[in-house]
Amino acid sequence: MTAQHPIQFVKGVGPRIAGKLAARGILTVQDALYFFPRGYEDRRSVIPIRALAPGQNVPVRGKVLSVQGGEPGYRGPKVLTVTIADGTGRIVAKWFRFHPSLAERFRVGKTVTLCGAARWFRFLPEMHHPEILSEEDEADPIHFGRIVPVYPEVAGVPAKLLRRIQWEVVHRHADTEQECFPGWILERAGVPPLRESLAAIHFPQDDADAARFRDFSSPQQMRLVFGEIFSLQWAIAVRRAGMERERSTPLPWDREIVEEIKRRLPFRLTEAQRRVVNEILKDLGNPHPMHRLLQGDVGSGKTIVAWIASMVAWRHGVQTAVMAPTEILAEQHHQRFAALSEGLPVRMTLLSAALPPKDREEARKRIRAGDADIAIGTHALLQESVEFRNLALGIIDEQHRFGVLQRAALRNKARSSPHLLVMTATPIPRTLAITLYGDLDVSVIDQMPHGRLPVRTRVVEERERQWVFEEIRGELSRGGRCYIVLPLVEESERTDLRDATRTAERMRETFPETGVGLLHGRMKAEEKESVMRRFKGGALGILVSTTVVEVGVDVPEATIMVIEHADRFGLSQLHQLRGRVGRGTRPSACYLMVREEQGEDARTRLAIMEESTDGFRIAEADLKLRGPGDFAGVRQSGIPDLVFADLVRDAGMLRVAREIVADLYRRDPGLGAPEHDGIRRFLARREAASSRAME
Ligand code: ADP
Ligand code: MG
Repeated sequence: MTAQHPIQFVKGVGPRIAGKLAARGILTVQDALYFFPRGYEDRRSVIPIRALAPGQNVPVRGKVLSVQGGEPGYRGPKVLTVTIADGTGRIVAKWFRFHPSLAERFRVGKTVTLCGAARWFRFLPEMHHPEILSEEDEADPIHFGRIVPVYPEVAGVPAKLLRRIQWEVVHRHADTEQECFPGWILERAGVPPLRESLAAIHFPQDDADAARFRDFSSPQQMRLVFGEIFSLQWAIAVRRAGMERERSTPLPWDREIVEEIKRRLPFRLTEAQRRVVNEILKDLGNPHPMHRLLQGDVGSGKTIVAWIASMVAWRHGVQTAVMAPTEILAEQHHQRFAALSEGLPVRMTLLSAALPPKDREEARKRIRAGDADIAIGTHALLQESVEFRNLALGIIDEQHRFGVLQRAALRNKARSSPHLLVMTATPIPRTLAITLYGDLDVSVIDQMPHGRLPVRTRVVEERERQWVFEEIRGELSRGGRCYIVLPLVEESERTDLRDATRTAERMRETFPETGVGLLHGRMKAEEKESVMRRFKGGALGILVSTTVVEVGVDVPEATIMVIEHADRFGLSQLHQLRGRVGRGTRPSACYLMVREEQGEDARTRLAIMEESTDGFRIAEADLKLRGPGDFAGVRQSGIPDLVFADLVRDAGMLRVAREIVADLYRRDPGLGAPEHDGIRRFLARREAASSRAME
């Protein structure tokens, strides 16, 4: 029998059970081998009741003192309550789904063994719905006297039967699984071979550390983590190598270009800006395309860096495309680029969906004819109808709105591969950046322009609202502007969320001295633009908005931001939002509104915002609190979901895997050597599985 055999051939699995397992995706023996426990219970020995700790999930054994509830004909509590004592203490077992046959299993004075999570109620330990172990069970090495696996529920298959089936599967078939990695790789990764790992993950050895199995960090589980991370790193290595083979137009810089740019700078670049400019200029001179991610906190000054790169391209007589995620930002970039290049014969074109069709056609024509040196726009630039004459540099602002596919689309617009500069203000923790953008080199602007004032941030409660409103009134009278940010567009009946429309009305009543604008995701692009413009211009002093203001908008006069229901936002998102204020010369403030009933947890989390203005620190904290899944960009990254690996916890493994992959790729990029057959099959299988998952 091989691993590919139907599960029905396993002892104890009849057609009916096979059907239930199939419904859970377990069709073959191999499927069962990879159907892993969701937890473990340490049943190596019975614990004295007195020694129990809350949350501990262990067996206890004692004499039944009393059995209460659900006597025949009695319409009282439907709860079965059984009290047992073992000489060290008493514990109460409760079943909330009473059944006479259940009660019959307990007789006062008899000894029973129960297994479940201990909790406390009125100073007494309790177990709810514990597993009842019979004498037979206790004699059975599958269910007792070991660290016992707890499998995810499979409808129609009792837990004990499932465990027995898995025992059969593991003991008879784990050995048929082929190890795909050669010994030197396993050794460097510090993980045991696959077979040993599979066996232990289902049924850990007697001397195993149960706690490590529970958080999936035992050496055997790390074998699976390694497999996942390895395949991720390998995919990145392949992608990278492909790019290194691409050719691009080299755009070397010389003294003259640099001097000319320097003369036009409206301010001294920060040390960090100078460093990343150097990195970019070096890349641009290569005959291979640049693939660089420029990370820099909100307000760190990425735009000028992008402009410098575009100037180098312009001096070489080739085109640059600058892409922004929204119309507002595209227009803002267009204005800024134009201001920076004033007096130079650089021809700039804005291509935006907001333009009338005639102007759009005109813009496309200029881009095609090469009459536009720098084309600035949104996704519109990626449309098929847009052709460039000699595109050599692509700049993508705010990467997290653009995925890998868009990057590829831009690349296809040029005859030879264009240099690519991707900018993001989402400070992606290093560990995550390696994984998400492993195919990009990373530059970081880790310094703010001089004289920037940190945004004073405070968590405030509803009862302090009046006082916050007075602050706003004061700022308005000094010519400041105010953002009010809300998490949702419309109030739903079920929640008590302040709906943006209602908030705007309320603000109009409260602040008759100024205009109040409303901005939300369901508005048309032109409507948004017009509101934004009036806010920028000062006709509106207050802008009530959903999170559409998050990205890049620059209104230096804005000095106050109030974020309603701040606890509903992730920290990184709050940081992004906060970056909309504090852009001018006057001190700014950000108020994070929470409801009184919000727990300490929310407040502790938000306190990070009060203490820190460092986007990277905040991002790290966010990553620890919420995991990588919530990170902007993770989902669009085109990287298969990681089931076992945790990019924060497994940062060390990530580094090791990268080194192993680098070595292996250097030796055998095609994995053609016979000793790498296994790896090739493993990667193919993963690829097939992930493309199935995408369907
Ligand atoms: P972001 O990195 O968020 O895109 P911007 O490029 O919009 O930041 O820059 C934010 C503000 O800081 C802009 O008004 C810009 O003109 C200004 N700025 C950028 N670099 C410097 C610098 N070195 N010195 C002074 N001001 C700067
Ligand atoms: Mg920007």
